[in-house]
Amino acid sequence: MKLRDLWKEKDVTLSFEAFPPKKDSDFDSVRFAVEQIAELKPDFMSVTYGAGGGTAAYTAEIARIVQAGHGVPALAHLTCVSSDRGRIRQELDILRQAGIENVLALRGDYPEGYDPTAPRDYRYARDLVEDIVAYGGFSIGAACYPEGHVECASQAEDLRHLREKVDSGVDFLVTQMFFDNSALYSFLYRAHQAGITVPVLAGIMPVTNAAQMTRILSLSGTTLPNRFRMILDKFRDRPDAMKQAGIVYAAQQMVDLVANGVRGVHVYTMNKPDVAAGIAENLSKVLGRT
Ligand code: FAD
Repeated sequence: MKLRDLWKEKDVTLSFEAFPPKKDSDFDSVRFAVEQIAELKPDFMSVTYGAGGGTAAYTAEIARIVQAGHGVPALAHLTCVSSDRGRIRQELDILRQAGIENVLALRGDYPEGYDPTAPRDYRYARDLVEDIVAYGGFSIGAACYPEGHVECASQAEDLRHLREKVDSGVDFLVTQMFFDNSALYSFLYRAHQAGITVPVLAGIMPVTNAAQMTRILSLSGTTLPNRFRMILDKFRDRPDAMKQAGIVYAAQQMVDLVANGVRGVHVYTMNKPDVAAGIAENLSKVLGRT
């Protein structure tokens, strides 16, 4: 199924993100976790891509397993920052052969020691979107940042670039994680004003490990509301309590988002089937899934 057709059928969607193994020896355990998540029957699952290309083959393989083995449409992430046109064409060939019809087109983060001024085939995700459109046969998603992308001088400039990216052929957007819904509502208002009309899926991270989260947040520029900071402080040394609180916080965020008309929630599961199941069970009625 091409995801661009999904929101013609559904008011609101539930989807999960998984990541592929980094090395051969992890393949079986990752496959097992991802298959358990797929059995929750989300509307689709996305599979991330290592910007350096290290897990490229696994992205297609895990996406194929989700889709062919479990009947869940797969969205394969693809980054271009360390690639060239020939390599991207090969990746698209592999995805097409695996039966994948949906790609999340990303620039990717700069690898260490990378020279952003050096000449290259791809400077921005938009360049990749244009090439995937030219290749044909895929529904295309892209990333957006409710609080602005870290590299961008202003949110207004970021939004201008986002509009250009969408206009080059993007069918839907997935947001970076956020913990304060008002950041998303403000972003959706500004995106609408900027003429962006494609569905925007809210990226939600159920935080289950406080230390890991502190690291991720410092890289992404995501702000933490005080209410959530208190939860991290209180439960950081009690993993079970942290996991429970993280799932409940994410579920509460999602209830509010659905009540306010968001088109989809995309849950960063970190390959944890119990976390995905906790969300799916808590929200089955809210999302109209049972
Ligand atoms: P772009 O859309 O190219 O934007 C990057 C920056 O360039 C922004 O600041 C933008 O404002 C600016 N810009 C865009 N166009 C112009 C222009 N014409 N002139 C000047 N500036 C411009 N990374 C991975 O490695 N693998 C993954 O699987 C992955 N999945 C992700 C999924 C989601 C939902 C999100 C939100 C991010 C994901 N990332 C992933 C991280 C992503 O690759 C980084 O955030 C990266 O820094 C930006 O990627 P982008 O596609 O948003 O880039």
